[in-house]
Amino acid sequence: MDNDITDRLIPSHIRQLKGYVAGKTIAEVAETYKPEQISKLASNENRLGCSPRVHPAVMEAMREIQDYPDPIARKLRAALSKKNGVSENEILIAAGSESILSILCRTFLEPGDEIVTVDATFVGIFVQAGVMNATLRKVPLHDDFSYNGLAMAEQIGDKTKLVYLANPNNPTGTYIPKEEFEAFIDAVPEHVVIVVDEAYYEYARDVVDFPHAVSYRRKNMMVLRTFSKAYGLAGFRIGYAIAHPEWITQMMKTKLTFEPTAPAQAAALAALEDEDFLQESVQLVKRERAKLAHFLDDQGISYVPSIANSLLLQFASEEEAGTFTQEMLKKGVILRQTTAFGLPDCVRVSIGTDGEMQHFRKCCMNVLTEILS
Ligand SMILES: *Cc1c(COP(=O)(O)O)cnc(C)c1O
Repeated sequence: MDNDITDRLIPSHIRQLKGYVAGKTIAEVAETYKPEQISKLASNENRLGCSPRVHPAVMEAMREIQDYPDPIARKLRAALSKKNGVSENEILIAAGSESILSILCRTFLEPGDEIVTVDATFVGIFVQAGVMNATLRKVPLHDDFSYNGLAMAEQIGDKTKLVYLANPNNPTGTYIPKEEFEAFIDAVPEHVVIVVDEAYYEYARDVVDFPHAVSYRRKNMMVLRTFSKAYGLAGFRIGYAIAHPEWITQMMKTKLTFEPTAPAQAAALAALEDEDFLQESVQLVKRERAKLAHFLDDQGISYVPSIANSLLLQFASEEEAGTFTQEMLKKGVILRQTTAFGLPDCVRVSIGTDGEMQHFRKCCMNVLTEILS
């Protein structure tokens, strides 16, 4: 295709976007490097899988697969309303948090509007803001990767419509504690939406000073949750927003009518009812995360303390982080260098099963002695 045709057809703010670079799949790693074992620790998925209740629920939903799904996911919405102590009209269910970020941006933003967030956070918000040709104001994290809530609030200007805060944050696993969160939300004017992305809520909710955003019941707050992480349903694409009914009504207009799919709705409903599986998943992460931290301390590798299902390793340079990621990949351990998230010197390790984490530790020691020493 001629460049000038592309230039004529595609607006420049779209041309400027960087496409998503997919990580290697398990099959590709097996084919390319033929390692003895493969551990996929790159995307913060639940390595235990999902609740055993999901499979039969999905099979049941398949009986009606020729019919369009319920566009407002009534059954799941009722269950979520009960679980979170909010009204049904305060809930919007869509094809994952990423879809909700897209709906949010499509609904609220015009070109030139601003979003305030931080320089190192979930890429999804960077991309969806870019699609709408909105301006991102990125506030630096503190040196220890924690949020500076008041600095974020100070960046709010006349054109600011949204403030985005992932809590806990991805890729750092850090969180904004209760007291600072309260000062932050008090400093945000009423006409700006505070978007709190709680993709890792289930891992964080028992931490004493973790602020449960829903409990504040602010009119200008929107809380995002997903079934992709602790519930283990990333492949289904389903998540939800909790917000003021007026905003839910407006966002329903830009949501693709029939997302999420009927099997995804059934899967989420079944997963939601299995508190045992959820607890097992959360406990595994806590246990293995502590073991990993201990190992990294012994090896003298810097990392960021996390309350999510990942740990962020810090290297001396982008090159060193790249070499580490690549050498680990050759040994079958798939990790994520966090360049797109704004942290090119770092590598994110998702917390897996005991066997996967042993594999990580073994390969990590080898890479350190062979390559990086
Ligand atoms: C993983 C992640 C998401 C994506 O969730 P989906 O529901 O799978 O789209 C959203 N926000 C954050 C902060 C994440 O880490």
